[in-house]
Amino acid sequence: MPTLPRFDVKKNRIQNPHVVILGAGASIAACPDGDMNGLKLPSLQDVQHATGLDALFKRIEAVEGSLGDGFEAKYSRLVHIGKYLAEIDQINSSVRDYFSRLQLPDRVTPYDIIILGLREKDSIFTFNWDPFLLQALRRCSGVASAPSIHFLHGCVDVSFCSACKVKSNAGIPCPRCGNAMEASKLLFPVANKDYDSDPVIRDEWSALRHALDDAYFVTVFGYSAPVTDVAARKILIDTFSNNRFREMAEIEIIDIRNRDDIEAAWSDFYFSHHYGIFDSFEHSQIYRHFRRSCDAFAMASLQCNPVPENSPSDVSTVKQLKEFAASLFHEERADAKFWEAHVNPFGG
Ligand SMILES: [Zn+2]
Repeated sequence: MPTLPRFDVKKNRIQNPHVVILGAGASIAACPDGDMNGLKLPSLQDVQHATGLDALFKRIEAVEGSLGDGFEAKYSRLVHIGKYLAEIDQINSSVRDYFSRLQLPDRVTPYDIIILGLREKDSIFTFNWDPFLLQALRRCSGVASAPSIHFLHGCVDVSFCSACKVKSNAGIPCPRCGNAMEASKLLFPVANKDYDSDPVIRDEWSALRHALDDAYFVTVFGYSAPVTDVAARKILIDTFSNNRFREMAEIEIIDIRNRDDIEAAWSDFYFSHHYGIFDSFEHSQIYRHFRRSCDAFAMASLQCNPVPENSPSDVSTVKQLKEFAASLFHEERADAKFWEAHVNPFGG
């Protein structure tokens, strides 16, 4: 018998978390025409173009021969060669500078919907260096309790106080001890990445393991689980394989790649046919069942009683999105039963 998730039938609520994993594709989807100032959001393969590092790589390749295809392979090779330390420093700081300048456009983006569309019990894990998740958190603050957020490869807008084990926005003193904080390390795409040596990064991965162990719904948005990141793939797959609700849980993958490639990349992750693949964020469970993602999935799959969608499709500004979230948060605080009046007992 599979283990059932923690479902409060009196209130139609799930207590297990919804876990969201974000990759570069999520930021590209948030800014298809560039950020607020038109800066391009590169994929990991294209980082060297956007950050003006093409010439540097060309200069090294004139000596060493091809370093490989795309930023990931080139960077990894450069680290492996071992002697280009000054160049690697230059690449690191160019990438940090570029990503630090990025700003979310004013309009509602998937980042805003993910921040406000999840609840406190839920978690977001991003592989992205860009500051979008924190910018969305700041502009969406003050209306509802937010999910926890974690940075698996570091982030340009995050600082840490290792003494207090606190993370916060870059550029401010530690909110607990008042000392200056350290900038987040950015983990670059090298083969055999070590997620354990830096204590801050290690804590973020430990939070991911903890969340995946208990997750009832997992959304992977724009993260391709590259084969070069062996350690990340192994942690994701091994942890979720041991999730005792896995046979009841659902994975959704939002990715614009070919469906066969996506299925091949994630087949070790999901149980049987318990997955969905979508090419746009508007099809995601968070969008269609805003702040009620796990609960709505339980109503459909455990109770055979699907509930109407509740998406922010009529919302056009961040202010309106906050109002939409506030009304749902009020229902949560009132400890009300979700879907009291408008459920069709025969489904549909
Ligand atoms: Zn401190």
